[in-house]
Amino acid sequence: MQKLLEQPLNGLMGRVQSRFQVDEEELMRVESDLGHNGRFGTQWVVVSTERILVFPDGESSEPIEIPMAEVMLARTEALVGGARLEIYRKDKPTVYVPYSRTLIAKFAEVTRGIEQLRKGESFFVNGELERIRCEKCNRLLPEKNGICPACINRLATLGRIASYLKPYRGRTILLAAASVLTTVSELLPPLVTKAIVDKVLVPPEGAEVLEGESRVGLLGLLVLALVGVRLVTWGAEWVHGWTITWLSARVTADIRSQLYRRLELLSLQFYDKRKVGAVMSRVTSDSGRLQDFLVDGLPYMVINGLMVLGILFALFSMSWQLAVLVLIPIPLILIWGSVFYVRMRRFFTRWMMAWSEVMSRVNEALTGIRVVKAFAQEQREIDVFTRRNEKLNQIGIQTEMNRAFFFTVMTFFTGIGVLIVWYFGGKEVIGGTLTLGTLMAFYSYMMLLYGPLEWFGMVNSWMTRAFSGAERIFEIIDTQTEAYQDPDAVAMPNMQGRVTFNDVTFGYDKSKPVLHNLNLDVKPGEMIGLVGKSGVGKTTVVNLICRFYDVDRGELKIDGVNVQNIRLEDLRSQIGIVLQEPFLFSGSIAENISYGKPGSTIAEIIKAAKAANAHDFIVSKPDGYDTVVGERGQTLSGGERQRVSLARAVLHNPRILILDEATSSVDVQTEAKIQEAIASLIEGRTTFAIAHRLSTLRNADRLAILDAGQIVEMGTHQELMERGGVFANLVKLQKEASEIIAIQE
Ligand code: ADP
Ligand code: MG
Repeated sequence: MQKLLEQPLNGLMGRVQSRFQVDEEELMRVESDLGHNGRFGTQWVVVSTERILVFPDGESSEPIEIPMAEVMLARTEALVGGARLEIYRKDKPTVYVPYSRTLIAKFAEVTRGIEQLRKGESFFVNGELERIRCEKCNRLLPEKNGICPACINRLATLGRIASYLKPYRGRTILLAAASVLTTVSELLPPLVTKAIVDKVLVPPEGAEVLEGESRVGLLGLLVLALVGVRLVTWGAEWVHGWTITWLSARVTADIRSQLYRRLELLSLQFYDKRKVGAVMSRVTSDSGRLQDFLVDGLPYMVINGLMVLGILFALFSMSWQLAVLVLIPIPLILIWGSVFYVRMRRFFTRWMMAWSEVMSRVNEALTGIRVVKAFAQEQREIDVFTRRNEKLNQIGIQTEMNRAFFFTVMTFFTGIGVLIVWYFGGKEVIGGTLTLGTLMAFYSYMMLLYGPLEWFGMVNSWMTRAFSGAERIFEIIDTQTEAYQDPDAVAMPNMQGRVTFNDVTFGYDKSKPVLHNLNLDVKPGEMIGLVGKSGVGKTTVVNLICRFYDVDRGELKIDGVNVQNIRLEDLRSQIGIVLQEPFLFSGSIAENISYGKPGSTIAEIIKAAKAANAHDFIVSKPDGYDTVVGERGQTLSGGERQRVSLARAVLHNPRILILDEATSSVDVQTEAKIQEAIASLIEGRTTFAIAHRLSTLRNADRLAILDAGQIVEMGTHQELMERGGVFANLVKLQKEASEIIAIQE
């Protein structure tokens, strides 16, 4: 059974089991985020088939045991900022478990589950709730079920990004060396100017003064040294820029292709939960942003970090007293930075939300551009977009204005350091305890310090954005893929084609089953017609056979083996499917037909097209089999698309053929042709046919009538008509409807 297992409660189950000496099944456990009586703390609720255990003080407490039979009612009561679970008991005080807003959805499911158990109903709760707020910090998430930018462990993310550098060790070392060299060569010039001032131009009183000739000579030497340092800086920066460009492009390309590989292997369940636009933006904008950060951010993090350290070292070794004075504004800067950081983060989260709203709208409207035009809704789409774009703009301006304000104040604070240098340093020069050269070096170093400090102020938000992008990418990379590589899977290169459903229960949302204890046994080579109202779950049955989804309960077997144990490749390669909405890729008709079997000869392709009754329409096109079908095959008619996809299934030569309303979008004549084609196709294959027009299922061996998630009638067309049940009724209705249409025509 499914579990509502969100926060693992360490070692709890062991304790529960040893205490009660039972082997009952644990169904749900949750941790509240408020203690009992409104005190600080957590409470644990564990629900099994037999009882509820409430641990009023988390792990350290003795549980209140509530046998299911004692529960009179479980309900939730809304409170300010949260709610509480109330469990009413017979002759005993009610148990309260308060929790905050974040957990409302989770506790609603728990309450529902308890009620189901109490009433002895079948137990269905949804273990995968949508997360709107972050569980750790309670902030709104920029994307449902997404990553909380505030709670990213930056060091871990940074480490993970850096691990992509491993294969390129040589260049990474070169990069590090160039970084250090750049830093050092930027730190040297103030020391040289110090020497110029103190040794050549204005030697301090009492110091040894060189004669005219050699003084000029020394000046020349020092200036030459400056030139040398400059040259080294240029060289190092060039090497640095070159390696970082190469490395970051390489790393992002690696991450992107790893990401795409994942996307192809992920289950349909993953895609059901997400907007395609949002997933696409991970491949495009998230990876782009990461690359920007790798080129312009990360290397300067190292360089600027070294710079700050180097400058501090230089300042302290020249005059520690003055250095201490100069650093006085630093705490101010830090406090200001951290106060403002919180504010900026809120702006960035809002900005990201607005951005993803704009993007998903663009994606949806352009994908559905035909519908938009068909209903003449261009202006409305434009208006919706404009509104969102305007909002994005507003938030963008606010963010930028706040940022500007932040920097102005920051510059003011850092400016204080320079004033200190002039005043206190100047006093020391007058008093003769500091040379003029040292003062100038101090000043230069202070100026050098600004860049990195400001950069660190700015990089924070930038890093947050880049890192949350990276985390979004890693989230996908870490998602469990379909079990293509399962080593225990049973190889089944030659299927017979027996399909058995044993008490199968399944729902896309686990709490709302579409199929309920479905039983069906299909012999090899048999043709089964699946009949039922729209939305009853016919396509769902087919999805399960292909293992696009896994059953929640019960078993689905092919040739006596549970589909979950069959090698996915073997399973899918022996199933041919013609979908309700045939999807063609941009390319030629021939390419589309041979999609499932690349490298087919043109003779094979033509044979398949003939079998699918598609050959005639294909050759009547000017380019024949080379006709390009456009994106999604939109230059073909619905019926043509369907026949191409039928040919695609034929060429695949599957053991199990699935026709999901394969004739729904064609006229009666074409349908007759396709029927002919199908009749020759199904020979010796197990076939599942779903058809809207019941008359087309006449040559099925048996018909299965689905209603309310179960098969309610089963038999041949003849038998079912004679029985006069649900099917006979449907046929009668359809006949009447078609008569009405005939009269209207
Ligand atoms: P049909 O019998 O018309 O083929 P389906 O099997 O497509 O019906 O759908 C059965 C039910 O499951 C419908 O209520 C539908 O809304 C729902 N459903 C179908 N696909 C999904 C999905 N990917 N995610 C969530 N619900 C779905
Ligand atoms: Mg369907």
